[in-house]
Amino acid sequence: MPRYKILTWGCQMNEEDSEQMSLYLQERGYEPAETVEEADVVLLNTCSVRRKPEDKVFSTLGSLRKLKQRKPNLVIGVCGCMAQLRAEEIRQKAPHVDMIIGTAHVAQVGALVDEVVQKRRLAMRLELPERKGAIVTDIPERKVDRHPKLKAFVPIQYGCDKFCTFCIVPITRGRERSRPTADILDEIRKLAARGTKEVTLLGQTVNSYGKNLLEGRVPFARLLRLINDIEGIERIRYTSPYPRDFRDDLINAIAELPKVMEHVHLPLQSGDDEILKAMRRLYTVEQFEEIVAKLRERVPGIAITTDIIVGFPGETDAQFENTLKVVERIRFDGAYMFAYSPRPGTPAAAMENQIPRAVKQERLQRLIELQNRITCEINQSQVGRVFEVLVEGPSQKDPTKLAGFTRENKMMHFVGSPDLIGRIVKVRADEAHLWGFYGTVVEASPKCA
Ligand code: SF4
Repeated sequence: MPRYKILTWGCQMNEEDSEQMSLYLQERGYEPAETVEEADVVLLNTCSVRRKPEDKVFSTLGSLRKLKQRKPNLVIGVCGCMAQLRAEEIRQKAPHVDMIIGTAHVAQVGALVDEVVQKRRLAMRLELPERKGAIVTDIPERKVDRHPKLKAFVPIQYGCDKFCTFCIVPITRGRERSRPTADILDEIRKLAARGTKEVTLLGQTVNSYGKNLLEGRVPFARLLRLINDIEGIERIRYTSPYPRDFRDDLINAIAELPKVMEHVHLPLQSGDDEILKAMRRLYTVEQFEEIVAKLRERVPGIAITTDIIVGFPGETDAQFENTLKVVERIRFDGAYMFAYSPRPGTPAAAMENQIPRAVKQERLQRLIELQNRITCEINQSQVGRVFEVLVEGPSQKDPTKLAGFTRENKMMHFVGSPDLIGRIVKVRADEAHLWGFYGTVVEASPKCA
């Protein structure tokens, strides 16, 4: 049996694309390989959001060149955002690459591997779907893994229409397209029948879901209500919502629907209105804080996490201080924090007032220290609270313990018997850390619940 290995960089959407490619290859008789050296097909599913993962892809391609000298029939493919964006450069710098597959061609991976094996020439698919008029119909076909999975990602929307000035995603993934509601519900029903208890709905601006559908507009809050009714699904998560589209109907859905988890990852990006404007984020700090206040009022105990970029072009010390002040005021449960990384082809990369690397790093360090202190304080204040945890399996930190996430998406480690895996248990937080809690089981759901 030929074997494949997929190396993945980037976001959950890429992880999900890699899983789909894996299913398409298995359908054609390929088996997963443990290592790159054992594989007949190696796919690099790439990310262009920052420069570092792009550099890593080129260095990996360098190592694969040596492997291919020893195994001339090895098929090497580059997929994902970097393939979409830098196909010509990949061809020139890495002529040993056999396939370059753009973000909209995941479902064709098996056919393209066959094409390379048979014809031994470069196979490329890079076209992004055109949005003709308001309606998009060319949404990729998706496979549902026949193996049971406790948690599953479900893409509900592809591409993005927001065009933030720092972001390459609208170029690499194309314009916003929502998946038909019936397809999403069908996939989730199949997942539930195979044992999935938690789904995470994926989209670049997930709460803008529902425009451009043949069946007419279906707001994201309505989609949540439909999924909430699916038997067997116990937890619903989604990432990432866009602040301007976070309307009251969504806040009501989060407050009212028992299966929608009490966690929102809401990207702030900057705590300064001028910088938000330069980023082309379509909200102000005040509007963002209003959403947070409503969420906290309607959903007590909700965890709110965020993304923040420091050192955006032109960011002054005072504007950076504004971000620190907002972080102090809002007190996020956690944050992904980054120094701005210019992405060629985006408006921000062409701005003249780029911030020196050392300044960006120093700001990032200060922000991380502040946020880590806040996360620790929040977690410490929750010691003694009893959380509901979906038990996922042995802890990677300490295999003598089990691990899972609370409804608020906090990691919990605790002692328990393996028959708790796959069940929802109540766990008291005993000891707080930056990463989450050590706790003690106080109650478990019946085994076949
Ligand atoms: S909303 Fe902005 S940051 Fe998010 S994917 Fe779209 S363009 Fe990129």
